[in-house]
Amino acid sequence: MLLKKTFEIDGLKIEAERKRVRNVRLYISSKDQQIHLTVPFYASEKFALEFVNNNMKWLRKTLEKIKDNPPVLQNLPQISKEEIEKLKHLISSMVPVWEFRLGVNAKAWKLRKMKSRWGTCDIKTKKITFSTGLIKKPLRCIEYVVAHELAHLIIADHSARFYAVIAKHFPYWKEIRKELNG
Ligand SMILES: [Zn+2]
Repeated sequence: MLLKKTFEIDGLKIEAERKRVRNVRLYISSKDQQIHLTVPFYASEKFALEFVNNNMKWLRKTLEKIKDNPPVLQNLPQISKEEIEKLKHLISSMVPVWEFRLGVNAKAWKLRKMKSRWGTCDIKTKKITFSTGLIKKPLRCIEYVVAHELAHLIIADHSARFYAVIAKHFPYWKEIRKELNG
């Protein structure tokens, strides 16, 4: 195999690259959803392709998941100090309401400039981070993100069960998500 090569397996394009690594690694880039395969120098092409074949089920499942939750690439707008203060104020008023509604408790939350997400929830530490870019969005979007991240304290993943919880409170969550990502 050359240093870089593109394969197509079952209609999936896979960018393979030889690198100084110990193990074959298969991953999907969150940026462009491209499938990458890193192959150690010692491994044969056949071995690498077998590895892909053995992980086909995982690949398809993961791609399907990404399709449901495409990464959001925000071009970071200028955000003033006043806007940050306003967002802090808004979120501080929303968090307790949603903690109560969902029956959860976050340890802490903070704001951060984030490029590709509106919020994150660390379920181990129960700490939540919100993107400062939210201030440019309508109130219902901010509220949705607050509830969404807190709901991860009930269900960590984006399974149907998770969205069932969301849908209870936001029947039109798909539209809100569209608005967020549009
Ligand atoms: Zn989420």
